[in-house]
Amino acid sequence: MKYLIAKNLDDALTLREENPNFTLLFGASDIALKMKNNQVSGVVDLTHLDELSYIRKNENSIKIGALTTINAILQNRDITQFIPILSEASKEFASHQIRNIASLAGNVANASPVADMIAPLLVLNAKVTLLSSKGERTIFLSDLIIGFKSLDLNNEIITSFEIEIQKRQHYYRKVGPRAKLNIAKLSLAMVKQDERYFISGASLNPYVKRFTNLEELLNGKNYSDVDIKEAMDKDISPSGSFRSTKEYRRKVLFNMLGEALGKFAI
Ligand SMILES: Cc1cc2nc3c(=O)[nH]c(=O)nc-3n(C[C@H](O)[C@H](O)[C@H](O)COP(=O)(O)OP(=O)(O)OC[C@H]3O[C@@H](n4cnc5c(N)ncnc54)[C@H](O)[C@@H]3O)c2cc1C
Repeated sequence: MKYLIAKNLDDALTLREENPNFTLLFGASDIALKMKNNQVSGVVDLTHLDELSYIRKNENSIKIGALTTINAILQNRDITQFIPILSEASKEFASHQIRNIASLAGNVANASPVADMIAPLLVLNAKVTLLSSKGERTIFLSDLIIGFKSLDLNNEIITSFEIEIQKRQHYYRKVGPRAKLNIAKLSLAMVKQDERYFISGASLNPYVKRFTNLEELLNGKNYSDVDIKEAMDKDISPSGSFRSTKEYRRKVLFNMLGEALGKFAI
């Protein structure tokens, strides 16, 4: 396996272009296992790209560098104050040691159905900036993740995430078998902003996406429990696994939606 170390962002872009089949690496907390099993032909190591590790509050938004660690997010006061749902998700993430190496971009780019940070970013309508030697583009995160472990990336490196500062109510809950080092049986991330709901969750689909049927239903005026269950069934297709059954995931999601709506009504 070839192991290339990028000295800076320009260097990373060149190495990416020259080696399109190589895997980008930051904390390696997702890809270490693949490397061990010889499933990676080469690596471009991004750990020296300090310029992609920052949290900046501007007048109307907060920008998070792609290689910011989960612990840096958890410890940032602007995030706690202006986008607390991200702090809550970070708090539930793995262990202190993993949070110290795991990056936000790594979590998103791995595009796992159980990734903790994707659902909160989706309900915040986060934008993501992508850079290659051919140029830069900024898109909604919802347009980046297109399937199970699949991204709409064209030899690009994720450089940052941007979230508007808005008045919002939020709900976040992750359910797992234990208090720490917990892989989600399921989670629910929900935001109410300008009387509109934005809803997503992990471990409920082959990849983490917005629950648009539920959003449409709740954004209307009248609905019953039956309507919620019908919309839920359109939005989720949970798999039964050793972690939990499909029925368990459906039932707990329905209960969490009730809890969230109760919280928003206060
Ligand atoms: C013990 C343990 C516990 C864990 N617990 C949790 C948990 O509770 N919740 C959870 O969500 N995850 C968990 N994970 C998974 C993992 O820690 C996270 O997904 C982490 O955020 C990955 O970040 P990383 O920097 O280590 O990524 P890496 O492993 O270095 O890379 C992951 C993927 O992202 C790509 N990538 C990295 N940077 C970029 C970039 N800038 N642009 C484009 N692509 C990029 C890589 O090519 C690779 O495909 C756990 C892992 C371990 C080992």
